[in-house]
Amino acid sequence: MSTLISNIGSLVTNDPALGEGPLGLLADAAVVVDGDRVAWVGPGPAAPAADEAVDAGGRALLPGFVDSHAHLVFAGDRTAEFNARMSGLAYGAGGIRTTVAATRAASDAELNANLTRYLAEMLRQGTTTVEVKSGYGLSTADEARSLRIAAGHTEETTYLGAHVVAPEYADDPAGYVELVTGEMLAACAPYARWVDVFCERGAFDGDQARAVLTAGLAQGLQPRVHANQLGHGPGVQLAVELGAASADHCTHLTDADVAALAGSTTVATLLPGAEFSTRAPYPDARRLLDAGAAVALSTDCNPGSSFTSSMPFCVAVAVREMGMTPDEAVHAATAGGALALRRTDVGRIAPGARADLHLLDAPSHVHLAYRPGVPLTAAVWQGGVRKV
Ligand SMILES: [Zn+2]
Repeated sequence: MSTLISNIGSLVTNDPALGEGPLGLLADAAVVVDGDRVAWVGPGPAAPAADEAVDAGGRALLPGFVDSHAHLVFAGDRTAEFNARMSGLAYGAGGIRTTVAATRAASDAELNANLTRYLAEMLRQGTTTVEVKSGYGLSTADEARSLRIAAGHTEETTYLGAHVVAPEYADDPAGYVELVTGEMLAACAPYARWVDVFCERGAFDGDQARAVLTAGLAQGLQPRVHANQLGHGPGVQLAVELGAASADHCTHLTDADVAALAGSTTVATLLPGAEFSTRAPYPDARRLLDAGAAVALSTDCNPGSSFTSSMPFCVAVAVREMGMTPDEAVHAATAGGALALRRTDVGRIAPGARADLHLLDAPSHVHLAYRPGVPLTAAVWQGGVRKV
């Protein structure tokens, strides 16, 4: 079954060979989808025939967003904590423990229903690929079931047993690292593609993070790192040294950190929802881009520090607050996310790519930043299937 999408006013291919600039922009374009793949891309009048036709009405079509950083296996929420923070009240550091307790107490069916709901919410906003982390179980059984549930929905599953030290090990962090790199890893590895660690003061230091990542590597998991979110630290350098696909947050960087990222294959994944929701200073995307680093944008969707599932929101904030142009932000939210997941089949619209397509109710991708907060998603195809 093939579908011709014609009368596309502006097409973002993310393939410079197909169109103008880094976004590979084509005006008055058409796309043919065959099965779950893109079969043809080019100027409208040259389009081949297909079994069925969709008229894009002159609107913009872009690749589905690739959200490469999300924490979606959890129960409960933290409304009261957010309300207290935004009301200027002091609040304890126990936030994540609230979610761990709720997640442990939830049934598999409840966790699965929550995950399904947030993935559907993302799809309605144009996101077609989502990475999902564990990290609210913090016991062997709860981390393994979190990943088993996530693996039922996405190939991009990440073992984050090293999110924070489990409450039972508050007085024995070394013992917890031993668990995370031993028994818990063995139980989780079958369901995970990636291994991640929160390398930050108050979570795991450089040596502990290295132990977690190298243990994961030895089990065939590829590394990614929560790095340099709350302050300077060793996370970015460790990510680069170990060839991690991504260093995530990158809010506090030295010149050496920026140079290391620019000279590496590690993507700097920026998560503006976290700074927005904690009233923290944003990362400097301009500095990274000017140095030549690859940049991705992602939601960091989680109930504590960034409870947004909206990639359009992240694009708008990145343009307004982080020095990105609209083209750069859209690229980072699509092709950048794909690079951060080391995927070549998503994040672009080119022959052979997966047919993950996002039709906007707008004539240009620039509207994602120009019209912040406005629902612009008109249609979404995932693997060639119309979902929205
Ligand atoms: Zn995170």
